[in-house]
Amino acid sequence: MIEQILKSPIAYLKGVGPQRAEILKKEIGIYTYSDLLTYYPFRYIDKTKFYKINQIDVDLPFIQVLVRLRSFEIIGEKRTKRLIAQAIDDTGEIELIWFQGINWLQKNLRANQVYIIFGKAVLFNGKVQMAHPEMESYNKNAISKGNLRLQPVYSSTEKLKQYSLDSKGIQKIMSNLLDVCLDQIQESLPFYLIEKYKLYKQQQAIQNIHFPLDAHNLKKAQSTLKFEELFLIQFRMLKAKMLRTEKYKGNIFSNVGEKFNYFYNNLLPFELTNAQKKVIKEIRFDTQRGAQMNRLVQGDVGSGKTIVALMAMLLAIDNGFQACLMAPTEILATQHYHSLKALLPNDFVTISLLTGSTKKKDRKIIAENLASGKLSILIGTHALIEEPVKFKNLGFAVIDEQHRFGVEQRAKLWKKNNIPPHILVMTATPIPRTLAMTLYGDLDISVIDELPAGRKPIETKHLFESQRLRMFGFMKQEIAKGRQVYIVYPLIQESAKLDLKNLLDGVDTMSKEFPLPQYKISIVHGQLKAAEKEFEMQRFVKGETQIMVATTVIEVGVNVPNASVMIIENAERFGLSQLHQLRGRVGRGAEQSYCILMSGDKLSKDGRIRLDTMVRSNDGFEIAEIDLQLRGPGNIEGKQQSGVMDLKLADLATDQTILNEARLSVLDIFDKDPNLELPEHQILKSISQNSDNGIMLNKIS
Ligand code: ADP
Ligand code: MG
Repeated sequence: MIEQILKSPIAYLKGVGPQRAEILKKEIGIYTYSDLLTYYPFRYIDKTKFYKINQIDVDLPFIQVLVRLRSFEIIGEKRTKRLIAQAIDDTGEIELIWFQGINWLQKNLRANQVYIIFGKAVLFNGKVQMAHPEMESYNKNAISKGNLRLQPVYSSTEKLKQYSLDSKGIQKIMSNLLDVCLDQIQESLPFYLIEKYKLYKQQQAIQNIHFPLDAHNLKKAQSTLKFEELFLIQFRMLKAKMLRTEKYKGNIFSNVGEKFNYFYNNLLPFELTNAQKKVIKEIRFDTQRGAQMNRLVQGDVGSGKTIVALMAMLLAIDNGFQACLMAPTEILATQHYHSLKALLPNDFVTISLLTGSTKKKDRKIIAENLASGKLSILIGTHALIEEPVKFKNLGFAVIDEQHRFGVEQRAKLWKKNNIPPHILVMTATPIPRTLAMTLYGDLDISVIDELPAGRKPIETKHLFESQRLRMFGFMKQEIAKGRQVYIVYPLIQESAKLDLKNLLDGVDTMSKEFPLPQYKISIVHGQLKAAEKEFEMQRFVKGETQIMVATTVIEVGVNVPNASVMIIENAERFGLSQLHQLRGRVGRGAEQSYCILMSGDKLSKDGRIRLDTMVRSNDGFEIAEIDLQLRGPGNIEGKQQSGVMDLKLADLATDQTILNEARLSVLDIFDKDPNLELPEHQILKSISQNSDNGIMLNKIS
C-alpha cells in the first residue's frame, strides 16, 4: 500500500544525486527512498543533558560532555598509531583517543575550540578516557534556540564520510526524505491492533524513530515498528503455512497397527517418559488429519528423540509407507543405523544405511529394494535425498539435527513422493522459544522437556591450565573404574592446519601421560577419511580404547553410554550451546558423569560467564537463553535461512513480549478471518498478494 514515490531511486532525493547515490548503494545497500526510510538510527544523543567531567562515572551509558580541546597529538606507528587529545571543562580533564580516521581528525580538529563529545567513558590508568567519541563543534545559538531533543545517530562509513554523509549528513537527507514522503506512507497494521497495543500510526512512528521529540515518543515509535516488523514476519510465515496446508494433502496414517503395537508392548526396553508420549501423540494426531505434517521436535541431548522417531516411522510402515531418517554426518547416520538395528529383531522391519561411502554394489541393492517397497526404513546422510534415490512410497521423513539442513533440502524431500511425506525435524540445539518462533514459525513445535528417569545430572567443573595435573589424575581414576573419556579440541575456523596441530599436540601430551599398553587412544578429526573415522569411532564404541581425542566432529548425537567423562580443551573458545552439546555426549549411562572445562588462566568477561553458566546449569533452554543474550541472535545457527538477520529494530533477546503479542495477533486474524475478507484486513490482504509492498517487507526474503 505504499505509494510509488517510495520506490524512487535514491539519486532523485534532494541532497543526494548520482554520485552519492552510488556510494549509498555500495556502502550500505540503499537503493530507494524506502531503503533510506528504514535506515534507522542506531543510537540517539540526549541533547537535553550534558555531564560534567567530574560527574562521569564508568557505569554511565553513552553520555554527552561539553569540553574545550586543549591539545592533540599522534603517537605510535602503523598498527599502534593513535591520536590522543586532552580536553577539559571547569571540573576536570578527559583524554580522548582514536585508532581510526586519524588523518581526517588531524586536519579537522581545532585546539581551543569547544566541542560536544559523545561516547562511553572509561577509567584508564586513573584517567577519565573516551575512545572514538563523536565530536561536534558547539554552537551556542543552535542550542539556545530551544530545539533540544534526541538527536539521531546513523551509522556511517569512511567512504560515506568522504561524501559528507556522516551521521549528520545522513540526518539531513533523511529530513529531506520525510519532507517529501511522510504523508504518503500508509498503514500496514489493522487499526484495532494499533489501538489495542497503544501504538503509533505508521507516519508518526516513522517520524519519531528518526526525529523523536523526547524519550517517551521514541520508545513508542520503537515499540510500534518492532511490533510491525515481527507481526509481518509472523504474518508471512503463518500465511505460507496455511497455504501449504491447503495445497498439499497429507498421507493419512489411520492405523495404529501391528508393528507399532508390537514394538510398544514387547520391544521397548524402557518406559517412555511423559514428554515422549506427548510428542508421539502429537505426531499421531498430525498424521491422521489429511494435511501434511511439518513438526520440529526440540529435546535436550539425551532426552530420547530417537525412540520417538522410530515409533513414528513404525506408524508410517503400519500404514503401508516407507520412512527415512537423515543425519548430518556419516558417524551419526551409522550410529542411528546400529542403534535401531539393536532395538529391532532381524525380520521385524527392513532397514538399510546409505551414506557417501556405501559401496556401489550395495547402493544398487538398496535402490532396488527401495523401488520395490521391500525396504521399509532408509537411514543416511544427505546422500539420501540426492536425485537417483527413488522410494516406492515415502510417507515419513525424519531429519535429525536440522540446523545443518537447509530449507532447500527439505524441499527436495517433499518431491520424493506424489503426496509429500510428513516431516519430523529433530534438534538438540535448544532454540529459545522466541527464536524458534521466528526461525521455524512455519513449523509446529514439540518440546521434550523431560529426561528419562534415573539420569544423574552431569557434574561440571572448570579447571585452569595450571590445574592440569588434577585433570590427569581424575582421568586415571575414572578409567581405572572402567569408564571412557572424551577429550575435545576446538575448531579454529581460520586454519584447519592449526586445528590439526592443536589436536595432535594434545594427542602427544596424552600419549605420554597415558602410555601404551595400559591405555589406548582413539583419534577422530575432520581430515580423516570416513572409513578411518568410523574405524576409530568403533574402537571407542566397543571399549577397545579408553580415550577418544577428537575435534568437534563428535558434537552431534554420538552415543557411547560407557563414556562418562567429557573434557573440553580451550573451553573458553566455544559458544555456550556448543559446550552444552558436547557435554551431552556423556551422562547417557547409569554411571555418574563429569564434564571438565579446561581454560587458559586469563578469561574474558563473556568467557567467564559462559563457563560459570555451564558449571551452574544443566538446563539446555536456560543455557540457550543466556547464549542468545551474550551473542545476539545473529550468531545462532540456522538464521541465514530465516530473515532473522534482517531484523532492523526488534531484538529477539529482549523483545520476546512483543514477539508473542505479534504472533498471537496474527493467529487471531487467521482464526477469525482466514481469507482476509474483513475491511480492516484489506491492507494485509494486499501485502500478502504482493509481498514487496510495504516498507518493512522489502528486506525480508
Ligand atoms: P537424543 O534426544 O539426544 O537423540 P537419544 O535418543 O540418543 O537422545 O537417547 C539417549 C539415550 O537414552 C539412549 O541410550 C536411549 O536408549 C535412552 N532412552 C531414551 N528414552 C528413554 C526412556 N524413556 N527411558 C530410559 N532411557 C531412554
Ligand atoms: Mg539424537
